[in-house]
Amino acid sequence: MRVLVAEDEAVSRLILQRAVEKLGHECLSANDGEQAWRLYRETSGVDVVISDWMMPGTDGLELCRRIRAENRDGYTYFIFLTALGDKEHLRMGLEAGADDYLSKPLDREELEVRLISASRVTSLHRQLSEQKSELERLNSRLAEQARTDPLTGLGNRLRMEEDLEVLHARMQRYGQTNCAILLDIDLFKPYNDTYGHPAGDEVLRRVAGVIGSYCRSGDSAYRYGGEEFLIILPEQQLKTGVSIAERLRRTVETLEIPHDAKEPPGFVTISAGVAALSGEDGEATDTLLKEADEALYEAKRTGRNRVKSAPGKGTGFDDR
Ligand code: GH3
Ligand code: MG
Ligand code: MG
Ligand code: MG
Repeated sequence: MRVLVAEDEAVSRLILQRAVEKLGHECLSANDGEQAWRLYRETSGVDVVISDWMMPGTDGLELCRRIRAENRDGYTYFIFLTALGDKEHLRMGLEAGADDYLSKPLDREELEVRLISASRVTSLHRQLSEQKSELERLNSRLAEQARTDPLTGLGNRLRMEEDLEVLHARMQRYGQTNCAILLDIDLFKPYNDTYGHPAGDEVLRRVAGVIGSYCRSGDSAYRYGGEEFLIILPEQQLKTGVSIAERLRRTVETLEIPHDAKEPPGFVTISAGVAALSGEDGEATDTLLKEADEALYEAKRTGRNRVKSAPGKGTGFDDR
């Protein structure tokens, strides 16, 4: 263990340090409370502090309080040096967070016993903190999994709803304009019927891959439903969204995934609806999605494999 001794009396400090080292531990020593505190903060992994009570400046009690308030990763076992039979100091010391005491003058066997307890306690704390980090790691992995669509690796509905809530708040607060692209694979039901569900899954993965490749940092993509995807482009105007959607549409088309059950071009295609909205709208994200959905519907209605943008203030759908 790494032991820090704080004792203003030179001979007693030296005796204690030798005894600690003789028991096989590393020992740092300080001749007052302030120096001990400095050493403690500069040194990582101090397992045990053995501190005198009366020291000039920062006394043992204050040192103990500071160490307890520091709340480090590992636990520091604190032992007070007290004059024999000093019950009052003992109580105060334990209340301040000390774990044990050692009577002065030093009894080496007593020291050894105290350090055995200290070693047990600090190693238990170490195990606990390792288990805690492992739990935290597993928890965050679980949280990540719970928000990821297993088939495509994109965010799922849960992540989408959480993110949209944050986006909504940002839109309201800063009045920023955000853009949404809603994508849907064309005639996917006949695709499944012709090529089977596993082949359909592969198409979903490939389209998701294309979507992912078009997302820059800050953008988010989600699997919105069965064969529908949502992309959110924060702080982007409609025309940016439309041009990204158009590039996506073309990229999927050029994958040339055969779709015989479909009229020409005979390949898997997607349709997209794009909307943009600024935060002045009270409904914000709900309206944004609704408008993107209406634009998508329009893309389907007018023949699929195309991008439509939301009409905005009654101007009609834009053809792209
Ligand atoms: P439209 O062009 O109008 O969108 O026609 P569509 O056939 O794509 O639309 P519809 O909503 O009728 O069918 C969607 C299909 O998507 C039905 C369903 O079997 C399929 N689908 C949904 N989720 C999955 C999935 O996880 N894997 C596979 N393979 N197919 C899925
Ligand atoms: Mg002293
Ligand atoms: Mg579809
Ligand atoms: Mg659909």
